[in-house]
Amino acid sequence: MRLVVVGAAGRMGRMLVEAVAEAEGCRLVGAIARPGSEAIGHDAGLIAGIGLLDVDITDDPLPVFAQADGVLDFTTPGATVAFATLAAQARIVHVVGTTGLQDPDFAKLEAAARHARIIQSGNMSLGVNLLAGLVRRAAAALGEDFDIEILEMHHRMKVDAPSGTALLLGDAAAEGRKVSLKDHSVRVRDGHTGARRAGDIGFASLRGGTVVGEHNVIFAGAGERLELAHRAEDRGIFARGAVKAALWGFDKKPGYYSMADVLGLDH
Ligand code: NAP
Repeated sequence: MRLVVVGAAGRMGRMLVEAVAEAEGCRLVGAIARPGSEAIGHDAGLIAGIGLLDVDITDDPLPVFAQADGVLDFTTPGATVAFATLAAQARIVHVVGTTGLQDPDFAKLEAAARHARIIQSGNMSLGVNLLAGLVRRAAAALGEDFDIEILEMHHRMKVDAPSGTALLLGDAAAEGRKVSLKDHSVRVRDGHTGARRAGDIGFASLRGGTVVGEHNVIFAGAGERLELAHRAEDRGIFARGAVKAALWGFDKKPGYYSMADVLGLDH
């Protein structure tokens, strides 16, 4: 499978270039960076620190997408929406790991998925997608007597909060309770907030250092507390998950898929 990495000079972009180079059944045919980026014209393998791959980074996605079967995209919401239109035109697989997407962005991705195979997830690791299933089951079994709080910590450079993974876990908890996360999430607390409302799903975000990603889902009841946690130790888990998603999507029909589909996990 011929793959393109967009945002190839970014933290995840460099990991994706390495993951494609190491995986069987695919090869890197293109690498895209933001117009004006210092990485333009440099070899994607050298930028990723894995040696020459003979793939120069460019800022012109169109001709590159035309020669590819799939694109791996961990960039920004604006860039991802633009790449989705191009991937749909080229009828290729679009793996979206970008977080911070808002409802209008999701609507555009869903429109593009009429022609492209979009696989989108706030977290591409096996562990977190498995955790989401456990959270759904625990939320369904424990009910509203147990307050749900989701705590996450990431490195100091992360720009969006709560993390895409925290929201994915919040969605799983809401699904378990058969409610919509939108109507029950409390994303910020400050000042005199009053007592906690029954049924709320709370979020707290910590930022600092080089933490790759930590998530705790806490079910706090009267006199007992259950905690489910995931610790990401290496960004490679997300990059390898993204490559796996692209290979899985190769022979699928156009549509909007999740990592749970790729991993064959129950929704
Ligand atoms: P990053 O280091 O800032 O990388 C983002 C890259 O995208 C940068 O190189 C940026 O270039 C580039 N970019 C921005 N606009 C572009 C455009 N129009 N065309 C081409 N490239 C463009 O951030 P990161 O840590 O790699 O994270 C990227 C995203 O992935 C974030 O949303 C993060 O939350 C998410 N993420 C998801 C998962 C998951 O499993 N789903 C895991 C980890 C991270 P400039 O720097 O030149 O602007």
